[in-house]
Amino acid sequence: IFTKNNISSDLERAWQNDKDHVIHPYANYERFHEDGSVVYTKGDRHFIYDDKDRKYLDGIAGLWCVNIGHGNVEMAAHIGEQAKNLAYFNTFEDATSPSAANLAAKLASLCPGSLNHVFFGTGGSMANDSAIKIVHYYFNMLGMPKKKKILSRNLGYHGSTYLAHALTGISSTHIGFDLPKDMITYLSAPYPYRRPDEMTIQEFCDSLIEEMEHKILELGPETIACFIAEPIMGAGGVIVPPDGYLIKAYELCKKYNILVIADEVVTAFGRLGHLVASKEKFDVQPDIIVLAKGLSSGYIPLGATVISETIHKVISRPKPENPYFSHGFTYSGHALACATGLKNIEIMEREDFCGHVRTVGPYFKKQLKTLEDLPVVGEVRGSHFMLALEYVKDKRTKESFPAEINIGKRIYHSAKKRGLIIRPIGPINVLSPPLTYDKDAIDETVDIMKKSILETMNDLSKEGHL
Ligand code: PLP
Repeated sequence: IFTKNNISSDLERAWQNDKDHVIHPYANYERFHEDGSVVYTKGDRHFIYDDKDRKYLDGIAGLWCVNIGHGNVEMAAHIGEQAKNLAYFNTFEDATSPSAANLAAKLASLCPGSLNHVFFGTGGSMANDSAIKIVHYYFNMLGMPKKKKILSRNLGYHGSTYLAHALTGISSTHIGFDLPKDMITYLSAPYPYRRPDEMTIQEFCDSLIEEMEHKILELGPETIACFIAEPIMGAGGVIVPPDGYLIKAYELCKKYNILVIADEVVTAFGRLGHLVASKEKFDVQPDIIVLAKGLSSGYIPLGATVISETIHKVISRPKPENPYFSHGFTYSGHALACATGLKNIEIMEREDFCGHVRTVGPYFKKQLKTLEDLPVVGEVRGSHFMLALEYVKDKRTKESFPAEINIGKRIYHSAKKRGLIIRPIGPINVLSPPLTYDKDAIDETVDIMKKSILETMNDLSKEGHL
C-alpha cells in the first residue's frame, strides 16, 4: 500500500524492477536499457496518470481496448463479486459457467447471419490462431485436406503468437523470427493514399480485386482455405479500404469456396459506432469473426472466435478415430473474464456508447481534418474513434521523411509533454481513445496535436530537414 511518505520510493522501485526484469512487447532496446518505462498508476474514464501524478488524455484507450473508459466502478464491483463467487473452473469437455454460456449466447445474437458458436481464448492472437486451426480442421473433416493456404495482406495486423505473427503482413516485424509463412500469401494493402499516382481510387480498387483473383487462380482455389482481413487495418496505420473493396473481396471468396475471417479485434465494440461492424457498417457477411480488446474493454484478458452454423456442424461431428475436438486452453471460457465481457456489453448498450460514437465520431474526424492545412500532414484518415495522421516531407509528391527522423515518435513526445498520449507507428500517429471521449476531450486533443506538430516542424526546420 502506498502512503504519502513512501509513494515515490515504491514507484521508483517498480520502475527499477521493470527495467531489470520485464521484457516488454515490442521493446525498443535502443532506448530501454537507458530510459526504462513510464510507470502508469491509475485511470479515470479517458484520463490516465503516471507515477508523478501527471494527468494525460488517453488518446489510445490503453491499446485500442479500454472502450468503456478507465476506472469504471460498476465494472470493478462486478469483477469483485464474480471473483468471490467463482473466478475460474475449466470448461473442458463437459463443464461450463453461467457467464461463459450467456456471453456466448450474447455474442451469437450480436454477430450477423448464422455466426452462433463461440470459442473463447484470452486475446486476439489466440483467437486468430483458433480461427485458422478451426478452418483447417473443417476442410480436413470435409475430405479436402489440400485446402490449407491463407490469404492475408501487407500491413494487416493479426497478433504475435507464432501463427498470428505470420498472418501479420508488417514485414519489418518478421525480421529475426522464423515464422511459419509457407502457407500464407500476402496481398497488397488496400491503401488509397499510397496508390500508384496514375490511378483513381476506383481503378486502384479494381486492381486490388484483379490481383486477388489472379493470386487465387495462380495458387489454385482448391489449395486455399481462407482469407483473413481487418475491415479497417489498425496497427498497419488505420488504413480504410476503397469503397466496394471488401464486398468484392468477399464475393471472390464465395466464388472460389474460400472462407472469410473478419478480424474485428479493433473495429468491434463501439470503435466504429457498432458492437460488431462487418454487416452493419461494411455490409459483408464473414464465416468467422474474431473479437478481443473492446470485448472486455481490457478489464480482464478475453478473446473470442465466432463461427458459422455451417462450420460448426462439420467440426462438431465426432470422428471415428477421436471423438474429441482437441483444441482448447486452460482459460477458454474463463468465468471471471466472460462475466467481464457480459457486463461490458451491458454497460455499452445501456449507456449507448455506439450512439455516442456515431454522433461525436464525425466531429472528431472533421476537427482533426483541419490539421491537413499543416504542410507536413499528408492525410488525416479513419472513421469515428479509429483515426490517424500520416506525415510527409512533401505533400505534393507524398515523399516520406527519412525513417531515422522518427517523426511520429517526435510528435508523440511533444503531445505527451502537453498531456496527450497518442500512438506512433513510423510516420503515422494513431488516435483510438476510450468511447467516453467527449467534445471537450476532442477539442483539447486537436489543439495539442496542432501545437505538437508545429513544434516538431520548427525543430525539423532548425535541423535542416524542412
Ligand atoms: N488483431 C488485431 C486487428 C489487432 O489489432 C490485434 C492487437 O493489436 C490482434 C489481432 C492481436 O491481439 P492480442 O494482442 O490481444 O493478441
